Parts: sequence; structure tokens; C-alpha cells
Amino acid sequence: MTAGKIIIITAPSGAGKTTIVKKLLSEMPDLAFSVSAATREARAGEVHGRDYYFLTPDDFQQKIEANAFAEYEMVYAGKYYGTLRSELERIWSAGKVPMVDIDVKGALSIKEKYHGHALTIFIQPPSIDALRERLGGRGSETQASLEERLGKARYELSFSHEFDWIVVNEHLDAAYNEVKDIVEGFLRS
Ligand code: 5GP
Repeated sequence: MTAGKIIIITAPSGAGKTTIVKKLLSEMPDLAFSVSAATREARAGEVHGRDYYFLTPDDFQQKIEANAFAEYEMVYAGKYYGTLRSELERIWSAGKVPMVDIDVKGALSIKEKYHGHALTIFIQPPSIDALRERLGGRGSETQASLEERLGKARYELSFSHEFDWIVVNEHLDAAYNEVKDIVEGFLRS
């Protein structure tokens, strides 16, 4: 049964979530990635409409006023991210289950809204130090943005118990298999 279901995966930036989400999507045809809207700059290699709908702050504001978002948050200072209702509808109409990759607050508000149809998974990094290493290695962060992401990660970790499942990403393959089992169980239920 897939009708009306929604899967929400959350993790502090750098916890390995994107890798897990991409692999799930490539192996599970019932799932479709819900492309969020965001006002941050596109990183090298990111594509509008595939990674995010990159919007100007004005466009984002207009969509807030038009009630176009299932949820939205200012995830980082001045940077807005949101899940478009139209995106969820598009995926449900195609008979698939949206996979939503969002921050903790957004995840909890979606869970409340789609209560009973939502699966929430929190991917936890083994430690803040491991996170610092992974983020530093990515090369896309300045010292200030790295510190901001780590600060947010500490904050997000304090909400992990509100999720249906917590998966610790110590070893990527093991974490992936665990998430896959959870998702398969949810799709069958
Ligand atoms: P990044 O800038 O690294 O792509 O994403 C930063 C954070 O924004 C991640 O934690 C990601 O999960 C979160 N995010 C992405 N899309 C959304 C969204 O639509 N809503 C919310 N609330 N957070 C989002």
C-alpha cells in the first residue's frame, strides 16, 4: 500500500543522509524524491528542478502567501527551504511515495500534518567530531558556515527521540541496509 504515504528523512548536514537517500531512490521504484524550494545559492553541479527549485526570496515569499508550502523553515540565517504541496501531489498522482529530505523542525511539522501516513527517520552521525571531519572534507563550507552547520547539528540531535526511527551512520552500508528495511516495512504496512 503506497497511497498517501510520505517518508521523511532528517539528519544534521554531513551525516550521510544524501548518499542514503540517493541509493534508496535508485533501488526502490515506489519512491520519488520531493524536490524542495530553497533560497540559497546552487552549489556546483546542482540543477534547478532536480536538487532544489532555487527561488529568489521574493518568489519564496509569494509562495508562502499563496499557501503553497506543506511546511517551510528558515533553516540557516536568511535561507529559506520549503516543501511544496504541488510537489507532494505530483508524486502521489504518479502512484509513488514522496521521500522528503528536510530539517528537524520541518520533519516534525510534516509528521503532525500527515499523521498516520508519515514515516520519520533520523540519521545520526556517530559524533560531532565525525561530522566536523565530513563537512570539512566537502570543501563547500567556510569556517563560519561550518560552525553554523555544527551548531545546528547539536541542536537537531536533541530532537532525535521524536522520530519513529534513529539510525546511527557509523558504517554507511550497515546504515543503508537498516534504513532500507525500515522503508520496506513501512511500504508493506
Ligand atoms: P543544504 O543547504 O545542505 O542542501 O540543506 C540544508 C538543510 O536544509 C538540510 O538539513 C536539509 O534537510 C534542509 N532542507 C532541505 N529542503 C528542506 C525543506 O523543504 N524544508 C525544510 N524544513 N528543510 C529542508
